[in-house]
Amino acid sequence: MQPMQGKMIVIGGGVVGLASGLALARAGYRVTVIDDDPAREAASWGNAGHIAIEQVAPLASWATICSLPRRRFAAGGAVGLPPAAWRRWLPFGLRLLGAARPARFAVGKMALGGLLAEAMPAWQRLIQALREPDLLRIDGHLVAWSGADTAEAGWNAWMAADIGTAAFRDTSAAERACLPGGPIADAIRFTNTAQIADLGALDRALRAALMASGGSFRAGRATLETIDGAARVRLDGALLAEGPVLVAAGARSGALLTPIGHRVPIIAERGYHLRCRDHDWPADLPPIVYEDRSIIVTRYADCVQVASFVEFADADTPADPAKWERLEAHVAALGLPLRGPFTRWMGARPTLPDYLPAIGRSARTPNLLYAFGHQHLGLTLSAVTGEIVAALAADAATPVAMAPFSLERFGSRKTI
Ligand SMILES: Cc1cc2nc3c(=O)[nH]c(=O)nc-3n(C[C@H](O)[C@H](O)[C@H](O)COP(=O)(O)OP(=O)(O)OC[C@H]3O[C@@H](n4cnc5c(N)ncnc54)[C@H](O)[C@@H]3O)c2cc1C
Repeated sequence: MQPMQGKMIVIGGGVVGLASGLALARAGYRVTVIDDDPAREAASWGNAGHIAIEQVAPLASWATICSLPRRRFAAGGAVGLPPAAWRRWLPFGLRLLGAARPARFAVGKMALGGLLAEAMPAWQRLIQALREPDLLRIDGHLVAWSGADTAEAGWNAWMAADIGTAAFRDTSAAERACLPGGPIADAIRFTNTAQIADLGALDRALRAALMASGGSFRAGRATLETIDGAARVRLDGALLAEGPVLVAAGARSGALLTPIGHRVPIIAERGYHLRCRDHDWPADLPPIVYEDRSIIVTRYADCVQVASFVEFADADTPADPAKWERLEAHVAALGLPLRGPFTRWMGARPTLPDYLPAIGRSARTPNLLYAFGHQHLGLTLSAVTGEIVAALAADAATPVAMAPFSLERFGSRKTI
């Protein structure tokens, strides 16, 4: 394909859109980011902050499917399948079953592993460009278990798992005694994973760097249509000038791309968190996963956050308060040193049924790029995604083979 030229419109100002917009601006494009989330409520600003390079195995797997009965919310677990949203999750689940077939899982794992291997070096380059070294803390994370039986099963599972370029070690009894939420039966410490120290500061730093590189922002809701074989953007109904476009709109990317003729079987995998400012959480502790409760606790610069749940539903339907109540029950049961009042948040992971992101250049309208569907790994993969998007725009070499991430894997749909 020809290198893209002209002013680049990025639809979506989450972490994937901002990291990609910045990479494009630094490559010489005049970038405008369109976003409709002035309150910064999107998944990018409420996630667990974990740079999770160890999560190499796509969740579209037989292991996930077999664990589903005990992971149901009704059974005390973290997976929500709201009956009212069955039209969403049933077709998604059928596609997930197909993607979990051993041959497809193996291909997906190789593709995701390749991308994750590039994630940390890309983050280090991005942090250097932002001149904000304190934002990235490469100090690992912990996985802890309360029960001896879950500890043994968890240990064995991590020992058998492909964790890519990540590494972990056992913890000493003295280390475990210092962990909040006792008694802890066992815990492992990943040594080369990382955390973003402050998501709000990351947002501000990305925006400032983008403006300093000549980028600009417009607030409002964008739509896409095809005119004379090219994708064109409307902002709140008004047609914008022609030029290349990047769709990085998280869980709402499918609605944008459907009129272009792409088939995008995306679902909102909704997660919930609680945050509090009043706490005695150790300042130097990296994120901890309490695996038998499926929660992750992260200390940020100005708060501590407890996050969990995967609820398959529409992005925009109301949150379920029972999820926050369950989180509060976990905090109390573990005796975590956190004091309310808690602020409550729900946000949507953008997830495709094979648990691989969609990153590529449209085969239908060549002025269109896309980068979304990063599921549980959007923060982790945002920096490398930005670098890949800039390479795709310039028709230059990418650090990994892009075929597994093409939207063409889902086929196309007839346009009206
Ligand atoms: C509880 C929870 C914990 C998580 N923890 C981690 C973690 O520890 N590590 C990790 O790597 N990932 C984590 N994730 C996943 C990660 O947050 C997401 O994958 C990532 O934020 C997706 O980023 P995005 O930019 O693609 O989408 P989003 O953050 O959803 O941003 C998309 C933006 O596009 C805007 N938009 C959408 N449509 C339009 C439109 N038509 N016009 C204009 N603007 C539009 C939206 O308003 C939004 O601002 C977690 C997610 C959740 C929910």
